[in-house]
Amino acid sequence: MIIVMKAGRPQSEAVKIMTELEARGLKPVPLYGVERTVIAVIGEERDLDMSHLQSFEGVDKVMRVVKPYKLVSIETHPEPTIIEVNGVKIGSQQLVAMAGPCSVESEQQMECAAAKLAEMGIKILRGGAYKPRTGPYSFQGLGKEGLQILKETADRHKMAVVTEALDVRDLDEVCKYTDIIQMGARNMQNFELLKELGRIKKPVLLKRGLSATIEELLLAAEYILAHGNNEVILCERGIRTFEKDTRNTFALATVPLIKELSHLPIIVDPSHATGKRSLLAPMTKAAIAAGADGFIIEVHPNPEEALSDAEQQITPEEFEKLYENLKPIAEAVNRHF
Ligand code: PEP
Ligand code: MN
Repeated sequence: MIIVMKAGRPQSEAVKIMTELEARGLKPVPLYGVERTVIAVIGEERDLDMSHLQSFEGVDKVMRVVKPYKLVSIETHPEPTIIEVNGVKIGSQQLVAMAGPCSVESEQQMECAAAKLAEMGIKILRGGAYKPRTGPYSFQGLGKEGLQILKETADRHKMAVVTEALDVRDLDEVCKYTDIIQMGARNMQNFELLKELGRIKKPVLLKRGLSATIEELLLAAEYILAHGNNEVILCERGIRTFEKDTRNTFALATVPLIKELSHLPIIVDPSHATGKRSLLAPMTKAAIAAGADGFIIEVHPNPEEALSDAEQQITPEEFEKLYENLKPIAEAVNRHF
C-alpha cells in the first residue's frame, strides 16, 4: 500500500499514521519529498481498512498495491481449478453444458426437457425451484416439490442437478437435491449466504450480480473459499446498463479477464445475459471462442407457455442445433464437450 500525504503538511501527521501502521504489525517506509511525504507500507495490506487510513489528518490518497482478494487469485494458485460433476471436468479442456428450464413447473415439463437433453449427452440439468422474481405476484417456483421433481427427473436420466438456493434457511434442504448450488445474481453479495456456502461440500455456481464489478464477483467468491469451500464456478450472466434492446449487456471480456486474474472456472449464461433467443447461438459461440469453460442455457419444451422467462427460452430442438454448431468452435480453440 502507498499512502500519499497532502503537500506542505507537518511531518507529525505522517508520524501519527506510521505509528498506527506499526501497531498493526506493518512496516511503514517514509519518503520525505520537498513538497510532501509518501509512505510505502510493507506487510499484509488486505487486513487494513482503507477508509480508516484515509480518514487520518493530512492524508491525500491511499492506494492498494495488491488485489483485495487472495485465495481466488491466480497468483496464489497458478494451476486452474478443475471441478468434477457427473463425469464433466469443469475448468479443464472439457467444456460443460448445463441446460434445462428456467423454472421447474411440472413433472411432465421436466421429463420432456430432460429426456431430450440427456439424449444429446447433456450431463447437468438446470431448473429453478426457488425463483428470485422482481415482483411478488409472479410465479415464485414450486419450492420443495420443485426440488423433488428436478432430482427425480435428473436421476432417471443420469444427470446431475444445478438449482438455486435463495435463502440461508433453505440451503441445507436444497443441498439434499442438488449437485451444484446456484447463487443467483441477486444474491451475489448476500454475505451471510456466501459464508454458509463455505461450509457446504458441494460446488457453487456463483453468478455475477446485476451491477457488480469483476472485482466484486471475485471478492464474493473469496468469501466462499475463505470459509472452506474451494469449488466455485463463476458465471457471467450480463450486467445492467443503459441498453434496452437486450435484457442485460453481455460482458464477454469478463471471460478472458477472469482467466488472467483467477484459477476458478468461468462459464456464461447467454439466456439471462441477452434475454433473446436469436442471440443465444452467436453469443455462446463467442464465449467459447473467448475461453469460457462452458455455458448454462434455458431450454423449455414449450417456451411460449413457460411460467418465467418465456421470451428467452428455447426448445430442445433449437438447443440441439445450437449445441451441434458449437462443436467446431470448441475444436478450433482446442476444447471439447
Ligand atoms: C436463473 O438462472 O434462474 C436466474 C434467476 O439467473 P440470474 O440470477 O442470473 O438472474
Ligand atoms: Mn430464468
